[in-house]
Amino acid sequence: MATMTDQEIRDAIGRFVAEAYSPEITLAQWWDRLCESGWAVPTWPEEWHGKGLPGAAARTVTEALRSANVPGPPAGLGLLLAGPTILTHGTDEQKARYLRPIVDGQEAWCQLFSEPGAGSDLASLQTKALRDGDEWVINGQKVWTSGAQTADFGMLLARTDSDAPKHKGISYFAFTMDQPGVDIRPLREMTGRSLFCEVFFSDARVADSECVGGHGAGWIVANTTLAAERAGLGTGGSGSAGGGFPGKKSGMLEIPVGELMDGSRAQAAQASRSERGGGLMRRVARELGVADDPVMRQQLAQAYILEEVGRMTSLRAKHLRASGSSLPGEGNLAKLMMSRVLRHGRDLGPAIVGPYGTLLGEDTPGEGNFQEATIWAPGPSIYGGSDEIQKNIVGERVLGLPKEPGPDKNTPFRELLVGTQKG
Ligand SMILES: Cc1cc2nc3c(=O)[nH]c(=O)nc-3n(C[C@H](O)[C@H](O)[C@H](O)COP(=O)(O)OP(=O)(O)OC[C@H]3O[C@@H](n4cnc5c(N)ncnc54)[C@H](O)[C@@H]3O)c2cc1C
Repeated sequence: MATMTDQEIRDAIGRFVAEAYSPEITLAQWWDRLCESGWAVPTWPEEWHGKGLPGAAARTVTEALRSANVPGPPAGLGLLLAGPTILTHGTDEQKARYLRPIVDGQEAWCQLFSEPGAGSDLASLQTKALRDGDEWVINGQKVWTSGAQTADFGMLLARTDSDAPKHKGISYFAFTMDQPGVDIRPLREMTGRSLFCEVFFSDARVADSECVGGHGAGWIVANTTLAAERAGLGTGGSGSAGGGFPGKKSGMLEIPVGELMDGSRAQAAQASRSERGGGLMRRVARELGVADDPVMRQQLAQAYILEEVGRMTSLRAKHLRASGSSLPGEGNLAKLMMSRVLRHGRDLGPAIVGPYGTLLGEDTPGEGNFQEATIWAPGPSIYGGSDEIQKNIVGERVLGLPKEPGPDKNTPFRELLVGTQKG
């Protein structure tokens, strides 16, 4: 594995940006250059578009790109989830087909895991794949599929063997979204946006060669995706400084990067990123004259403490990784910490702005960030495994507590469905 000091990384990125960046080039051109340089995915092997650096280097690279004021690598689930999963379990053909367009942002991905009857208990999923020659025929329904409207591919979990125990009859496919038999219906959230969708499959198809990790190995492969999700979400996601979304349907690839970085949305995002959370709350509390209230002061101090504890925990994990060690349950604990910080902000923000809390928009105190944060706060403690599920994992896998009671692990899935629906 290659090694570089933090200063060497910062210097190398400085040289790369000076050579490769220009505000006139499009986002697609910038991502192509970023991909060629290896800085888009520095911890991936050099053979697969990375630089082979240890995990601890990732944060330094993200910070260096951010302070150079250039867009980071593509946001979204391709780079965060599909990439690491295919890198770990994919065949060389699958890596050659999928990784490059994930890293250079040409193709977008969504995660086709959750179903109406399978969220926390994901292994109960019932979307079916039936073998037909060199293909599988897919029927069923997914829900809460973030970004399905703009995705080119989906990480599809489907049941390929109902006679096997529930965790063993599942396979993982790289699924083409644009095809007959796929019906994508956006769901409206309380933010007013439609981040996620329902996806219905009626005799849709996927080639057997797109099965990742082998038949019946979907649960193991899905756990790699879920681990990447927890780790990414706990540290704030893939963190694209310019807010660029991949794939042709996102409509962003042909935008000049200068425009993207100067645009008011990007500026607002940058501004709140540099003064986010507690810093923003302290400023607005002072401006509105409520910062001296003793209860408010306690709550602002608590926001500061939570952020500092999160920052130090992440530094501790970074140093442990650099020395070849790790913190058991690190991803789960980081995600739980994020939920706690968000819940604190959800309550404190509206308390600071008072009646302004009922208004949305950039011309309200805090530039609308508190109101947005409050209505968005429930989401992160549910997706990527709810808080309760994270605690179960820490209890069982880190602390070694007894497992939750449930049916025998060897019971065929079909028998678990007796009385509900035939498998
Ligand atoms: C904003 C958002 C985006 C999402 N994006 C995606 C996506 O892109 N792709 C995708 O596949 N899914 C996505 N999801 C779905 C998400 O993964 C599920 O909502 C989540 O796994 C919970 O499943 P559920 O909604 O069915 O709730 P349930 O599993 O029905 O849980 C309901 C409640 O019971 C609790 N509970 C359940 N089981 C246990 C247990 N064993 N012990 C203790 N408590 C328990 C839960 O914590 C929760 O509070 C998204 C969700 C949200 C909110």
